[in-house]
Amino acid sequence: MKRRLLGIYIHIPFCLRKCPYCDFYSTQNHDKELRERFIRALCKEIKYYGQRYNKKYYVDSIYFGGGTPTIFQPWELEIILNQVRDSFHVIHRAEISMECNPATANAEKMRGYRDLGIKRLSIGAQSFDNKVLKTLGRLHNSDDIRKTMDYAFKGGFRNISLDLMFGIPGQSFASWSDTLRAAMNVNPQHISLYSLEFMEDTWFWRWREQGKMQETSAEDDRVMYEYAIKLMAEKGFEQYEISNVAKGEKYRCRHNLKYWELEDYLGFGPSAHSFTDNVRHSNVSRLDYYLDAIEKQDMDKDILIGETNAYGTRAVDGFIKNSYRDNVAEYIFTGLRKNEGLDLEKFRQRFERDIWDIYDEKCRRDFDEFVKGGFAKTDGENIRLTLKGMNVSNRIMSLFV
Ligand code: SF4
Repeated sequence: MKRRLLGIYIHIPFCLRKCPYCDFYSTQNHDKELRERFIRALCKEIKYYGQRYNKKYYVDSIYFGGGTPTIFQPWELEIILNQVRDSFHVIHRAEISMECNPATANAEKMRGYRDLGIKRLSIGAQSFDNKVLKTLGRLHNSDDIRKTMDYAFKGGFRNISLDLMFGIPGQSFASWSDTLRAAMNVNPQHISLYSLEFMEDTWFWRWREQGKMQETSAEDDRVMYEYAIKLMAEKGFEQYEISNVAKGEKYRCRHNLKYWELEDYLGFGPSAHSFTDNVRHSNVSRLDYYLDAIEKQDMDKDILIGETNAYGTRAVDGFIKNSYRDNVAEYIFTGLRKNEGLDLEKFRQRFERDIWDIYDEKCRRDFDEFVKGGFAKTDGENIRLTLKGMNVSNRIMSLFV
């Protein structure tokens, strides 16, 4: 059987402090014993999946996300990375990325991460305006971002991405514009531009419900987005996805492209998601449940249908088999996020049918209306959204759900 390509996501579930807008799973207890226990469990989980999937795949991307992976010292990540390399066939040119919080970076760590073979850094800068960083509850200031870039560059990183956020309460257009220009000055190769979302069960959500915080209007949010994309283009960044720009094709994030192209990936650690063989599964979003379940896991038993643990849960707590139609909708949904859009020939090869044989006449007519309105383009070989269309992407994508 021909091996396919696989991405690996590793969730490091520790943060120094919880940011009030964030709904990613993390815990603030990161003492030595807990970290050691987590690394042991994580390695067991990686080994377990390696036994089942190794012969099927070549791994071409590894991504350390979180949480805050840079809480870990290089030697701690080395244990995990060695386990991945022992359990899977990782190709020589694999993209190995990690998220980095400027509040936890230093020169020695950066050199250490690079020596492990980590090639790409994704720095959670968010803003260069200290007032905005304070609103976001971040533990770093703008100087910390500049220092982190410097440590990373001196440590040998040549592929660095910055996360920047707009639509933040109290953030003016001038502040956003200054942040973009400050970001250009530190010379990243990739930028991710995120509009702040008020996620349920976060402090921001509660403060908005209590009337203590006001959401940026959709109009202002879109103005900030369009301004950023145009400025980035002027500065030599090509947009390749709704929220992502890069200084050329070689700096596109291969790992994230897997999500948008509906390729297979395995996620390890609490709350991590996986997609393999048309099945989505996710791990429980609690470190104590995860540890308990993995420690009790019999390496010979199937983890997806294994015994429940003391808490009445398993490491895997979400499982769904995609139907043909689910895959089609997800492929279109994520494909339209990319600038190059959807390649209709690739679509035919993957799904063995033409897109317009799957969707009815009404869907096609509605899509044509978006084309006439300048929101989408099609040339018979491709369909894609224009910048104007990316602003209303959810409306267009919902045609295909
Ligand atoms: S550091 Fe990142 S993962 Fe941790 S709470 Fe803040 S935004 Fe969330």
